[in-house]
Amino acid sequence: MHHGIKKLLLLGAGHAHVHVLAQLAEHHPGDLDVTVLTPFAHQTYSGMTPGFVAGRYSEDDCRIALEPLVRAAGARWLQGRCSGIDAAGQTVQVSPVQGAPDMPATLGYDLLSIDTGAVLDRTRLEADMPGAATHALAIRPIEAFTTLWPQVMALAQRQPVSLAVVGAGAGGIELVFAAEQAIRLHGMPGARFTLVTGGPEVAANYTPGVQRRVLRQLKRRGITVLREACTGITEGEVHLGNGARLACDVPLLAIGTHAPAWLQGSGLALSDEGHVLVNACQQSTSHANVFAAGDVASRADLPHPKSGVYAVRAGPPLAHNLLAAHGAQPLQPHTPPKHTLNLLSCGTGHAIASYGPLHAEGGWAWKWKDRIDRGFVMRYQRT
Ligand SMILES: Cc1cc2nc3c(=O)[nH]c(=O)nc-3n(C[C@H](O)[C@H](O)[C@H](O)COP(=O)(O)OP(=O)(O)OC[C@H]3O[C@@H](n4cnc5c(N)ncnc54)[C@H](O)[C@@H]3O)c2cc1C
Repeated sequence: MHHGIKKLLLLGAGHAHVHVLAQLAEHHPGDLDVTVLTPFAHQTYSGMTPGFVAGRYSEDDCRIALEPLVRAAGARWLQGRCSGIDAAGQTVQVSPVQGAPDMPATLGYDLLSIDTGAVLDRTRLEADMPGAATHALAIRPIEAFTTLWPQVMALAQRQPVSLAVVGAGAGGIELVFAAEQAIRLHGMPGARFTLVTGGPEVAANYTPGVQRRVLRQLKRRGITVLREACTGITEGEVHLGNGARLACDVPLLAIGTHAPAWLQGSGLALSDEGHVLVNACQQSTSHANVFAAGDVASRADLPHPKSGVYAVRAGPPLAHNLLAAHGAQPLQPHTPPKHTLNLLSCGTGHAIASYGPLHAEGGWAWKWKDRIDRGFVMRYQRT
């Protein structure tokens, strides 16, 4: 790459980009103009969202204030959303955010980095699960979820609610435990809780040992597990694949997410699922001046699960490689870890820890998770 790179555009302020900003605060080349395009003034840390639902954390505990971090990095924040990329023309289309100052419709770049996370595509959701987009509360976007959660608590204080979480991956499991804890402590007695797995076993991506531990904890807390697909949602009912209907006041969606539709037509090489295809340096396999990390990206050489842990690990190599690209220096490859530490919170200060084939649980695992999560948010707080 040549040394004519003057404009770096960061899309999104996800797990990897907060690290890029922190690195720029340490070392910001004088001739590099950095802009961050992201819709919210905060980056909400998803790992702590179940703790927020459980009532353990305030909203502020779970989020990184972006303005001070962007300022420390010597960068400029534009409050808006990317709604398209023209990789050949080196421009990004911008959608305004309600209430934000006027924004140019397109932004040019010399170097682009994408860390906008995964999305729940409402059109695809509605095709798979008619009624879900209207009647269910989805965990993504997390900012909307955390704003609406207090309304669920208010309802649970007026009547014994029936709450169902659809999706039994890590997010759904943590969410149902957290909701059960909060409503049991602060809601009307008689509430009912259900986890709808979609068909597979609970915690399908985990080892059988972890699955057994999760099932034991669900049973202990009286949470019903239905190994059925959710085929639709209407007012007060979740429709199941076996034809049954589950009476439900609060359907929560924690199902798998999608790649953003706006990547289609960008000209960037994409994976079969539509994520930005990157090489070992987190660099687009089709455009050398585009980088991507986190849930929006897929490694062409070493595909790995999409999780916050991998997004965090990609932060330091991404920061290094963006600065190297600017300085026409060699890029450094990044090897994602084969196994990562997973800490599944079960509410009530208890968590299940797993690493590869190893697993254990207890209050100590929850304290460990609490320390890691709080530490991550604190690391990027600036005043
Ligand atoms: C309830 C829950 C709990 C979870 N717990 C864990 C956990 O404990 N451990 C773990 O490893 N993973 C966990 N995950 C998964 C984790 O949330 C994701 O893998 C992680 O957030 C991905 O990080 P990211 O940097 O790709 O994107 P995000 O963290 O989603 O950040 C995306 C950023 O881009 C911005 N943005 C979005 N769209 C646009 C746009 N169009 N234009 C510009 N900016 C945009 C957003 O505002 C945000 O700043 C959990 C997920 C959920 C739902």
